[in-house]
Amino acid sequence: MLKSIAVMTSGGDSPGMNAAVRAVTRTALHQGVKVWGIRGGYHGLLDEEMFEMVSKDVSDIIQRGGTFLGTARCKRFQTPEGRMLGYKNLVDRGIQGLVVVGGDGSLRGASTLSKETGIPIVGLPGTIDNDVWGSDYTIGCDTAANTIIDAMNKLRDTASAHRRIIVLEVMGRNSGWLAMVAGISGGAEYILVPEEPFDLDAICENMKEEYAKGKRYILMVVAEGAGKAAEIGPIVAEKTGLDTRVSKLGHIQRGGSPSVIDRVKASQLGEHAALAIISGLSDIVFGFNRGHVVSINLHDAVNNKKTLDPMYMRLAKVLA
Ligand code: ADP
Repeated sequence: MLKSIAVMTSGGDSPGMNAAVRAVTRTALHQGVKVWGIRGGYHGLLDEEMFEMVSKDVSDIIQRGGTFLGTARCKRFQTPEGRMLGYKNLVDRGIQGLVVVGGDGSLRGASTLSKETGIPIVGLPGTIDNDVWGSDYTIGCDTAANTIIDAMNKLRDTASAHRRIIVLEVMGRNSGWLAMVAGISGGAEYILVPEEPFDLDAICENMKEEYAKGKRYILMVVAEGAGKAAEIGPIVAEKTGLDTRVSKLGHIQRGGSPSVIDRVKASQLGEHAALAIISGLSDIVFGFNRGHVVSINLHDAVNNKKTLDPMYMRLAKVLA
């Protein structure tokens, strides 16, 4: 049994990280284990921005987006010297294990730290991209998808009023999951993702045919890894001759009060992470598979690339 652990959030923030940290903290305290909060991701680990938490420190945060601990991207942690300093700062405080909530990069850093120092580490996937291998869910992906469909509902109103084509760019540099599920649930006619090649000429021809048959408007969702709306929009306008507008949601997708799904799942994952690390387990990431919490080998999670289920591509085309 470990007696003292620490928890941090790192990399891109995502709604539900607070719920995860709250669950880690309260589960550990419930087990009589000390919990330290590390501020500002790996930066805080190196700069000794850590504090021992009590239950009240995680009060009033489950409903908030962002992360109350703060997050950052830290270059120094990518060097062996930086990681050794981080390890020393943990050992100096008697901290015996670390829970890292973050995306692919943060988990990669955690994996390296654990390999080099042997300190027990448990990861939780916190990213709106839902791109962590081995899990069909990451903390924040549901809220972000809901934010996008809310925007799509509004864009649809104005697109319909003016008979416009709207090209909407959403986040997802390497992963089209967010564009795909938001596109399907928002009723998009076209969804462009980095995982699948597309033929813009053929799409534009198809758009013209649909308009000729009486279609009033078209919504196209583009994952940023598949292309920029600012570039695709003018091409669509030129090739179709139809009134086309572009919209880029940007960081709005990262924020907002977490959905029920993100709150509950982040809480479940946080509890699992705390119990696992306290009992001495290491090098695992907790995620979900078909509705159940599963543990994934940390190194496998960062060394494999998650693919987009082809079911989504099929469904998007059938329903468009
Ligand atoms: P995310 O966790 O959202 O994917 P990043 O990729 O920016 O965000 O990673 C967050 C931080 O994790 C980085 O700033 C860095 O400190 C650390 N990190 C990322 N990749 C590595 C790596 N290969 N080795 C060590 N640390 C890393």
